[in-house]
Formats: sequence, C-alpha cells, structure tokens
Amino acid sequence: MTYSASDIERPASSITLSSSVPDTAAIRQAVLAQTDYMREALIQLVRAPSLSGQETPACETMEALLDELGLVTERLPMNTADMASHPLFSCPCNPDGERYNLLAVMEPPADVEPNMGGNLLFNGHLDVVPTGPESLWEKQPFDPYEKDGWIYGRGAGDMKGGIVCALAALRTLQSMGLRPASRIGINTVVDEEDTGNGTLVTLGALQRARTKARYASFDAVVLPEPFAETLMSAQIGVCWLTVTLTGRPTHVAYMNQGLNPIEAGIEIMRALREVQEEWNLPENRHPAFAHVEQPININLGTIEGGEWKSSVPCTCTMGIRASFYPDRGAREAIEWFSHFIERTAARLNPDLVVRIETNGFAAPGCVYDLEHPAMQLLAESHEAMHGEAPRHLACTATTDGRHFRLMTDWAVTNYGPVARNIHGVDECVSVGSMVRVTETLVRYIVLYCGVVAL
Ligand SMILES: [Zn+2]
Repeated sequence: MTYSASDIERPASSITLSSSVPDTAAIRQAVLAQTDYMREALIQLVRAPSLSGQETPACETMEALLDELGLVTERLPMNTADMASHPLFSCPCNPDGERYNLLAVMEPPADVEPNMGGNLLFNGHLDVVPTGPESLWEKQPFDPYEKDGWIYGRGAGDMKGGIVCALAALRTLQSMGLRPASRIGINTVVDEEDTGNGTLVTLGALQRARTKARYASFDAVVLPEPFAETLMSAQIGVCWLTVTLTGRPTHVAYMNQGLNPIEAGIEIMRALREVQEEWNLPENRHPAFAHVEQPININLGTIEGGEWKSSVPCTCTMGIRASFYPDRGAREAIEWFSHFIERTAARLNPDLVVRIETNGFAAPGCVYDLEHPAMQLLAESHEAMHGEAPRHLACTATTDGRHFRLMTDWAVTNYGPVARNIHGVDECVSVGSMVRVTETLVRYIVLYCGVVAL
C-alpha cells in the first residue's frame, strides 16, 4: 500500500477529505486545547499502579478512558499456555491469573468507501518496572505530580505518557469535528517489561480471528515508547537468564576447603563483560547499530546468596539481562550465553554446580523498514509539524514492536515523547513533548487514515 500526503489529500468521491484536512496551525491549536486532558489522563493512569503481574487497576482505568472516546473495547485474556510453542514466546515470569490486554477499535463510518486510507494500530504497555527504594524518590512513585513541565511517577514515561498521546490524538480529531476514515485501534498490553507476551497474545487472537477486529485489519503500527520523538530504525535482541551457582559451604576459618559461589559469580560477570566489549567493537557491530557506541549491554540486574558473614556461602543466584544483534535468534542466543556461563564456571572450578533458568525475555532483535511509505508519511507528519525530519534511533532496548515486525507485513516503528529516568528514580515525561507527539499523530492520522466530518 503506498500513500503519500498528495494521494490522501486528493478529494475522494464519497468522503469529504480535502475540505476537512486541517492545516498544521489548526492541528497545533486543537492539540494545545487537549493539554489538560493529557495531564489528567496521565495522572489517572500513573495513579493506577501496574507493576508487572499486577496491572489490572491500570487496565480498568484504561478501559474507562477508551470508553469515553467511544471506542469499542474488548478484553483479551492472557492465555500463555496457548502460546507456549510460538517462536516468539518467552517463558512467563507471572501467572496469567485474571490479567488481560485491551484491544479498542474505532471503525470507519459505514458510508465511507473501504480502503480509502490505511488502518492504524497504536500499541502500548501498561505494566511498569519496580520503583526501587521509595525513599530515593522525591515523592511517592505512584502519586504523580507535575513540576516544571514534567509529569513524575513510575510509568509516566515508560509508557503511559505515550499511550495518552494516542488517546489525545483521537480526542483532538473529535474536537475538530472529524473522525478517521479508516480503522483505528488502540492495543494496551501487560507483561511487556519481562516477556512481551501480552502483545503476542493480542496478535495470536487477531490471527485466529478470535477478536471482533479481523487479522488483516491493520497495516501500520506505532508504539509510542518514550524515545524522544525519534523513529526507531532497529532494536537489539534481549534475553534473561537466571543463573544459580552452588558451591561448597564451610566455616570461614577453613575457607580454603570451601568453594564460594558468589565470588565465582563475580568472575562469570567479568568474563561476560569481555564478551560485551568484544561484540561492541566497531568491526563486530551489526550494520543497523554501526553508529551506536555501546549497543550490547550485559547487565547483572539482581543477585542474592549467602547466609552468614562467617560462612562460605552455599549458593549465588544472579539475574542477568544480555543483549545480542538482530542477526541471531533468541533461542540461539540463550543457548550461546548458557554454554558460555557453564564453560566459564567449569574453568573456575569443576565442582561448581550451575543451573540456568530462562524465564523472561527471549526477544530477538529486528530492523524496521523506515522506507515503507507508511513510515515515511509518519516522518513527513513530524517534519510538517516540527520543521525538521525526525532522527532515527537504533535502540539498545527491546520493545513489543518486534512482534509486529517479525509476525506481520505491517509497517511498524516506535515514536513517542521525551522522558527521563525510565526504569530509574523520579521517572518523568515532558508535557511539551507529549503535545508535540500528539500533533504529529493527529497529522499522521489525517494523512494516513483520512478523515471525514463527524
Ligand atoms: Zn516501555
């Protein structure tokens, strides 16, 4: 499907496109009038806590916001057992429980000729990562507040702010007396921060036509993740490994007879650091990451072990997040890291017992097609509103965009607002940037989907 601004703006026989197409000044003004809505919606969403595995309060808030906009929303329950053999499946870290994803759809008016414009889906995750010690935060992480143009709170940036931009874009059009001339969907998911299975469940349901919306009903996806108004050109592959080392405990008085698994863990991390350095060398980088200084990051995210200061410990358990380039499959990467860790441990001491679990991310990387006409139109929309072409980002994190990129032929990218301290302390999102992103999205909907008078 090839759309350009000139195609879409041409008057169509059955819909009043050209006479309805608002110019950039009108869009700017209409979006600005939605700023308070954006603030309020975001504050509501941040106030509904949604740590991975406990997202339901935020899902309920989201349902109310979608309802208000007149979208038809359905719940897509997490049913990971159904997905377990899928190549993009990650072993869950949380039980499915009663958790669900949302797919909200606004259909084009019945009298609009089908396929007048592109069908556009927004996808965003409602789950957030742990806050860390609340004492380090200026205020409570789930008690959002605004200061100097930034809204603070866990999830404000990653990524409830971006989701609000998509809502605000639709609300802006309504305020202008317009509605999209083709199908628009908003899909909010759970479990993005540890597996990506929420989006996988959504796509699975769409593929098996278990939803009211048909599988073939979208052809472009935008994920408003907080990457500073860039268009994502590629993302790194990510896997999680939980490594438990068992040594030989002894009284510290006879330390030489013991085998310390915590110290062995430190040595294993040192060896992984060397892998990281090697893969980051310019000559070893994947072409999509050629200009990224440190695309590969291998992080020791959690560690526990030991029982007593005067005992050589029994065990050490390390939670490791490792990344790899898009030319490698996730299972292959997990196998590679597992073997590397086992070999390193055996070299350190053949008596070390190593157990590796792989719950969590098994997420291959991908390269996005920003040359796709639908993505070029998004870039043009940004440029029309903000006077310069958006920068491209080869992302050193994973996003659910990979599922759409690897499972469909839809045009996909991430484009969302400026945020600070995501996954850190005092996370916040720029209200000004949310306004800018919404302006781009309104323009994009107008050009890509077409609009008709309400
Ligand atoms: Zn995110």
